[in-house]
Amino acid sequence: MTNKITIGIKGNIRIYVANTTELVETAREKHNLLPVASIALGRTLTATAMMGAMLKSDQNIVVIINGGGPLGTIMAESDAEGNVRGYVGDPTVHVTSNHTGKLAVGYAVGTSGSMQVIKDLNLREPFTGNTQMVDGEISKEFTYYFATSEQTPSAVSLGVIVDEQNVVTGAGGIIIQLLPGHGEADIEEVEAILPKIEHFTKYIEDKKTGEEIINDLFAGVKILETKTAKFNCKCSKEKMTAAILALGKADIVSMIEKNEDVEITCRYCSKTTKFTPQDLQEIKNKLDN
Ligand code: ZN
Repeated sequence: MTNKITIGIKGNIRIYVANTTELVETAREKHNLLPVASIALGRTLTATAMMGAMLKSDQNIVVIINGGGPLGTIMAESDAEGNVRGYVGDPTVHVTSNHTGKLAVGYAVGTSGSMQVIKDLNLREPFTGNTQMVDGEISKEFTYYFATSEQTPSAVSLGVIVDEQNVVTGAGGIIIQLLPGHGEADIEEVEAILPKIEHFTKYIEDKKTGEEIINDLFAGVKILETKTAKFNCKCSKEKMTAAILALGKADIVSMIEKNEDVEITCRYCSKTTKFTPQDLQEIKNKLDN
C-alpha cells in the first residue's frame, strides 16, 4: 500500500502534509514494534519521508536519532521517490503512560543525545547536520534541526496512533516552512495556526486528506504536487553478497568450513536471506578469480 505526501505553497510558506499510516504499520509488522517504538520510529519515518519529498531524484536522506533512551538508535532513510525504510534499536521497549495519559515517548527516545541528518545530494561530500535533542518527542527535534542546520524556520508536527492490539491505525505529519524572502505577515500567519498543528493527531483520527488539512489551516494555498511514499527496503541478495565479500577471504573460508547455512538479517526491514555453504563457496570463488 502506498501513502501520500501533499505539497502546497502560499507565497513564502511551503507546506508538506504526509499520510503515512500504511508505511508505519508496515514498519510495525516487519520489526514487531511495541507501541512506543511504533510511535517513535513512525514519527521519524514520517518526517524523513517528507524530507525525502524535498529532494531531487537520485538524492537520499538518512536520519539517525541517538537520544540515549531505552529505544536505542532510531534510523530512517528515504529517497526522492518515496522509498522509506528504518528501524529502532530495541523494538520491545515497553513504557507506561505518563501523567497526561500518553505514552512516555520522550523518555523512551531520550533527551541527552543528538540527531544526525545526512543528505546525499550527489555532491562531492554529503551534507551532515548534527543537532541536540530537545524533548525526545521527535517533532521538536526536526523543528530545531531545520532552524539550526538548514536555517529554515519550520513548524513540524508528527503523529502516530496505535490501537489496543498494537496495530498502527493512523500516522502522519506536517512540515510548514518559511522560505527565503518571507516577511512578518508570513511569520504571523504560521504562528496563528501552531496551536492547531500541535494536535495533528486530531486530523489523523478524523482521516483528513492532505489537501483538506492544508485548506483547513490556510486559505489560498496552491497544491503543487502529490508524491507517494511507502516502506520499501532496497536490500537484496546481491547487496548481502557484497557485504559477505567485504568480510574478506579468511572469514568466508571459516564460514564454509562450518558447513552450515548462514542467515543474514537486514536491519532495515528484518528480512532474512539465507546463504548455503555452496553459495558461500561461490562467493569465495569470486575472490579467487
Ligand atoms: Zn532490507
